[in-house]
Amino acid sequence: MAIISDDDGLENVSRVKKNPVVKPETIEYDTTFENTIRPKDFDSYIGQSALKETLKITLEAAKKRGKSLDHMLFYGPPGLGKTTIAGVVAAQMGVDIRITSAPALERPRDIIGILMSLKGGEILFIDEIHRLNKVAEEILYPAMEDFTLDMTTGKVQTAKTLRIPLPKFTLIGATTKAGELSSPLRDRFGIINRLEFYTTEELAQVVKRTAKILEIDITEEGAKAIAKRSRGTPRIANRLVKRVSDFAIVKFDGQINEEVANYSLNLLKIDEFGLDNTDRALLNMIIEKYDGGPVGIETIAAALSEDVRTIEDVCEPYLLQAGLLQRTPRGRKVSPEGYRHLGIKMPSEQTSLF
Ligand code: ADP
Repeated sequence: MAIISDDDGLENVSRVKKNPVVKPETIEYDTTFENTIRPKDFDSYIGQSALKETLKITLEAAKKRGKSLDHMLFYGPPGLGKTTIAGVVAAQMGVDIRITSAPALERPRDIIGILMSLKGGEILFIDEIHRLNKVAEEILYPAMEDFTLDMTTGKVQTAKTLRIPLPKFTLIGATTKAGELSSPLRDRFGIINRLEFYTTEELAQVVKRTAKILEIDITEEGAKAIAKRSRGTPRIANRLVKRVSDFAIVKFDGQINEEVANYSLNLLKIDEFGLDNTDRALLNMIIEKYDGGPVGIETIAAALSEDVRTIEDVCEPYLLQAGLLQRTPRGRKVSPEGYRHLGIKMPSEQTSLF
């Protein structure tokens, strides 16, 4: 049961209720552009076919039973489509979606305000849900399980317990770190899905779709060239389409073909694996300063003057997936493939054995 201090008493809830829309805190990209191109239905949501199939069945069953959807958790690296799929689910169910993120729910009244302003059937989307604090989590437990808010208000001796019914809603959580979710919270999600990196073919479709929305002429080869360097991630593919289209307009005749794409991406220092300067600096640093590793994540972040979270959430997942970096109990290590990619000779395996 959540203990709410006097300061967070119910008087404040109505005030919060008047202003219930909370924006995600971590907006480090052009959200207007993202929202314009965000797919709104399953057909335009490319790839993730297993996930789409199971979701379609879940949605149909919920509609047939006339019940609200189970709470869902989507996890995977940033930019793979977790927010987008939540929007698709809402659109398919014909309900509204309220988007917020865990860092915006710092005080108990933030989460209480949102919960109390939800309407029946609505979807509440919480991004970065692994960052929810303990109090907010405890408020969520009975809300998710029994659709109630259990609260104690007032001082200890005069404390009153309140149980407030909530409309039936669906919580969709998104996280880049499923492992950091507390198990009581994780256990309250009926559906847990991991989003996978996209294939080059799927990303080429994303690229063509975005180019069409932006009214940019693109060839099949041009789309593939961008897709290959997009690190398996639609958000990156979309950003690159935009960047490359600037070059196409200014330096060429406006069309993106293979030559234009490769020329632009080389100038942007994005290599054929999709690695940028930060990724290469990370691998180079481990090789040069730590003989290829293993080395701890904090040391890597400090040496690159980067935030640990950026390294863990943005750089590392793709480097691991591409097999350029390895995670060992003693830290991160550059793989033989990583050495090869940078054109650096690997120290002989023999010498490291002694
Ligand atoms: P996440 O929430 O996982 O960080 P988003 O859902 O915000 O990622 O997706 C980032 C961008 O990538 C969106 O603007 C969307 O246009 C695009 N995108 C994501 N998934 C897909 C997909 N399956 N098909 C087409 N575009 C996608």
